[in-house]
Amino acid sequence: MRFPAISHPTTMAPSGSNSLIWFRKGLRIHDNPALEYAAKGSTALYPVFVIDPRYMEPDPSAFSPGSNRAGLNRIRFLLESLADLDLNLKKLGSRLLVLKGEPTDILFRCLSEWSIKRLCFEFDTEPYYQSLDDKVRKYATAAGIEIYSPVSHTLFNPADIIEKSFVKLAGEPSWTSSTLVSDLNRLPSVGNVGNCPIIEVPSIKELGYEDTPEDENTPFKGGESEGLRRLKASMENKEWVANFEKPKGDPSSFIKPATTVLSPYLKFGCLSSRYFYQCIQEVQRNCKKHTSPPVSLLGQLLWRDFFYTVAFGTPNFDQMKDNKICKQIPWKNDDELLAAWRDARTGFPWIDSIMMQLRKWGWMHHLARHCVACFLTRGDLFVHWEKGRDVFERLLIDSDWAINNANWMWLSCSSFFYQYNRIYSPISFGKKYDPNGNYIRHFLPILKDMPKEYIYEPWTAPMSIQVKAKCIIGKDYPKPVVDHNLASKECKEILYEAYELNKRLKGNLSGEDLKNLRNKHEEDKRPSKSKRLKQTTID
Ligand code: FAD
Repeated sequence: MRFPAISHPTTMAPSGSNSLIWFRKGLRIHDNPALEYAAKGSTALYPVFVIDPRYMEPDPSAFSPGSNRAGLNRIRFLLESLADLDLNLKKLGSRLLVLKGEPTDILFRCLSEWSIKRLCFEFDTEPYYQSLDDKVRKYATAAGIEIYSPVSHTLFNPADIIEKSFVKLAGEPSWTSSTLVSDLNRLPSVGNVGNCPIIEVPSIKELGYEDTPEDENTPFKGGESEGLRRLKASMENKEWVANFEKPKGDPSSFIKPATTVLSPYLKFGCLSSRYFYQCIQEVQRNCKKHTSPPVSLLGQLLWRDFFYTVAFGTPNFDQMKDNKICKQIPWKNDDELLAAWRDARTGFPWIDSIMMQLRKWGWMHHLARHCVACFLTRGDLFVHWEKGRDVFERLLIDSDWAINNANWMWLSCSSFFYQYNRIYSPISFGKKYDPNGNYIRHFLPILKDMPKEYIYEPWTAPMSIQVKAKCIIGKDYPKPVVDHNLASKECKEILYEAYELNKRLKGNLSGEDLKNLRNKHEEDKRPSKSKRLKQTTID
C-alpha cells in the first residue's frame, strides 16, 4: 500500500516492544496507517482514546447557560463511534482503552507505566492538535520513544501541497491504485494496564449531558460500521454518483437527503476520505459519462482537501483579525439579532426551519447552510461570521475546524467568494424547491397548518387565516426581525464601502478604520448610493 508523504519514524523501535496507538480522529480500522504501523512487530498494543475535558467546557458562544462547547448530538455521535471502534478492535483480538482527562497528562502517564517504545497517531492539521502534538513529540523524543504520525485524514498532505504551491494539485493522489481496505486480521493483544484509570465508553449522562428521547436525536448514528454501510449504499446508486452535481440538489429534501451525509463520518475519521475517493473513482471508471470537479462528488472531496490546505497554511485562519486572506468588514455586534437567528426566531420560516434542523439533527444540506450563513452575515443581519461559526461549531455533528471556518468566510464574502450583491432570498429560494413548505412544516410544527400561499411569509396571512392555522404571528411565531429588502440593500452598501477601503488600504484596516466605516454608514445612509449597486437576488 502506498500513502501520501508521511512523517517517518525518528528511530527504529526494537521489535517485540510495546506500542501505543493514540486515536483522536481516524476512528476506524480500514486505511489506518498509524494502527497498522503500531501493530507491526509489537508484543503488546495499547489502543487509547482520551476523552478531553475541553469539549465539555462551557460553550464559548454562550448558547445557553450551562451548555457545553460540543453539542449533545456530536458527543453522542463520538461515543457511538468509540463503541463501534471498540467492537471492531475486539474482533481483531484487541479492545479500546478509554481514559478521561487532560490528554498530555494521561498520555505521559500511560507511556511511562506501560513502557511504550513506539507511539503512533494520525497527523492533525488543527492548531489545537498541532500544539498538543508538539508537547507529545518533545516528551516522547526525550524518553527515546519512536513516533510515527502519518497523514491519513486528507487525500493529500497539506504541507506537501503548500510546498508545491498547489501547482500539481490537479494530479492524482499517489495511493489511488492501491486498495485501502485493511488486510489486518489480528492485532497484538493489549498488555497489562496496571493502575492507569481505564473506563468503559461512557454514557452521554456520565459526561454531564442531559439525555433526550430517541425520537428527538439526530437520525445519523456514529461509527465506522455505519459510515461504511452508508458509503456502500451511496455507491450502489451508480448513476446518482456519476451524475452528482453541486450546487444542484434539493436542500429541503430531508427524508432522503440530496447528498451522501458522509460528512460526520469523515469528520471523525470513521470513514477514510481516501477510501471514499477510491470508491467514487471505481464507479466513474465503469460509467460512460460522469460529472467532473469541482461539481462532481470527487470534486467535493477535493474542496475538503483544498480547505484543509489553506487552513493549515494561513495563520489566524479562524478569525478576521490578522488573517491575511480575510477581508476586514465592520460587522455589527448585535446579540439580539444573533440570538434570534441562533434560536430559530427570525420570523422567516425558511431560515428558522434550517436552524431547527441544525439544533435537532446537527446536519443540514449545503445550500441550506448557505442560506442561513448568508442571512446572518452579508445578506440581512450583518452579524460577524465568527459568531455564526461558533454556533455551527457547537451544533454540527460534522463540525470541522478547517471546513467550517472556510465556508463561513466564503458565505460572508470575507474570502474565496466576493459577489456580495448575490444574496439568497429567505423567502423565494426555499419556495423554488418546496412550494408546499413540507420542510418548514416538519421542523417548525407551529406552522404546520399554515396554507402554502403564506408558509414562507406568514406575516402576510390575514388574521382569519392565522386563527384558522392556530398560529398568530407576533404571538405563536415571531414577526420578521428585519425587512429583507431594506436590510439586504444596506448590507450591500456597507460591503461596497468596506471592499473599497480594503482595496485602498491593501487590507491593512485598523480597528479604528472599521469603527469609522460603521459610524459613517450609520449616520449617512444616502439612498442614492444603493442605485449604483447591481440588485441581484438568488431566487
Ligand atoms: P456531499 O455533498 O455528499 O460531499 C461529500 C463530502 O465532501 C462531504 O462529506 C464533505 O466532507 C466534503 N464536502 C462537501 N462540500 C464541501 C465544502 N463546501 N467544503 C468542504 N468539504 C466539502 N462541512 C463539514 O464537513 N464540516 C463543517 O463544519 C462545515 N461547515 C459548513 C459551514 C457553512 C457555513 C457551509 C456553507 C458549509 C459547511 N460545510 C461543512 C460544508 C458542506 O455543507 C458539508 O460538508 C456538506 O453539506 C456535508 O454533507 P454531505 O456529506 O452529504 O456532502
